[in-house]
Amino acid sequence: MTEPIFRKINIESYKPGKSFIGKKRNLIKLSANEGALGFSKNISKINLKYSRIDKYPDSNCKKLRKEISKTYNCKYEKIICGSGSDEIIQMICQLFISKNDEVLIPQYSFLMYRIYAKIAGAKIVFAKEKNFKISVDNLISKVTKKTKIIFLANPNNPTGTYLNSNELINLRKRLNKKILLVIDDAYFEYMNNNDYKSGLNLFSNSKNVFILRTFSKIYGLASLRVGWGYGPKKIIDALYSIKPPFNVNKLAQISAIESLKDKKFVTKSIKHNLFWSKKLKTFFAKKKIKTNNSTANFFLLDFNNCKFSANYIYKNLEKKGIILRKMNYYKMENKLRVTIGSTKENIQLIKNLNKLIK
Ligand SMILES: *Cc1c(COP(=O)(O)O)cnc(C)c1O
Repeated sequence: MTEPIFRKINIESYKPGKSFIGKKRNLIKLSANEGALGFSKNISKINLKYSRIDKYPDSNCKKLRKEISKTYNCKYEKIICGSGSDEIIQMICQLFISKNDEVLIPQYSFLMYRIYAKIAGAKIVFAKEKNFKISVDNLISKVTKKTKIIFLANPNNPTGTYLNSNELINLRKRLNKKILLVIDDAYFEYMNNNDYKSGLNLFSNSKNVFILRTFSKIYGLASLRVGWGYGPKKIIDALYSIKPPFNVNKLAQISAIESLKDKKFVTKSIKHNLFWSKKLKTFFAKKKIKTNNSTANFFLLDFNNCKFSANYIYKNLEKKGIILRKMNYYKMENKLRVTIGSTKENIQLIKNLNKLIK
């Protein structure tokens, strides 16, 4: 051998929602579930001059965690911040997984669970959804002695369906206490369904549930990379011991704090989403495109009853500068995912679909 050898990891890397079409300008990007209304105006007031980006940021995000604990009425010492919730998923995998462990996830789920779990050496076990909704029975049936972690997002991405609070509580009850259940609340703010409760709301005192939250969606800070995890103090302490020292940069910390203070922005975003969620749902139904039943800020679109295929719609919207998310990775037939955009963007989407599907 004449070269350094690295271990072979057999994974398909993450494919982000498409952001460019050649050099086309004014794209309408509805492929990555980002917030529709940008970010809080408070952030524009942040003065770079006084933000001391010449110094390392606070390694433990103390001010941000204080603000989080105030906003969400949860315990400061049980919060850990990451460079996106992404990094928290990675740290959880690093902390828990040893060789031969199994990580159980729904077949259609956020790709970072399988990617980080696989990198850490786990065997990924998939549980089939029923009618695009996570099935508690199917999850339970796939549990073995080697199951270490179950990851699920609620509402789930990319399906847009959710488990109600009874179903979630039931799942936790039926699982061995040694299995860590990770509930990803990435879209909880948008949820208006009566039987829905966030993971944090249901399990803040649990010894075997870990919660993920993000600033990438409703707060509109996807590009700054901030998320947080909430769990048993023992797990949090262990995560701090393996955390990269300055994982959340200064501007991200300040911006997240300012975002939390701007309750009006969040309320406005929720209202906007609810309005368009109803409107778009009705519109899609008229075009014989089936969708999910939650008020998350995105829809999984099923074209099986529509006159046109998902591929045809994708290509023709793309020609107009409107980007949806293909579901090829999941081998889902004839489906696309669309994010609810700004008023202007949604109107363009409707206008173009009206032209395509007559
Ligand atoms: C978008 C999304 C996130 C956010 O990830 P960040 O790393 O915080 O940007 C987390 N979980 C799910 C299920 C998502 O769809």
